[in-house]
Amino acid sequence: MILLLKCPKCSNQMKYQSQNMILTGKRKRCVYCGKTYNVRNSIIEKI
Ligand SMILES: [Zn+2]
Repeated sequence: MILLLKCPKCSNQMKYQSQNMILTGKRKRCVYCGKTYNVRNSIIEKI
C-alpha cells in the first residue's frame, strides 16, 4: 500500500510505503523542510 503523508508545515507530500495503516502516532521527518511531526489520520492519504 502506498500512502501519502502531508507535511503540516510545508504541505509537501511524501510517498510512504506501508504494510498496514498503523502509522498514526509515529514520528516522521519531512524530507523537504526537515520538520519532525507526529502522524495523524488527517494527513494520511491513500493512493
Ligand atoms: Zn515539510
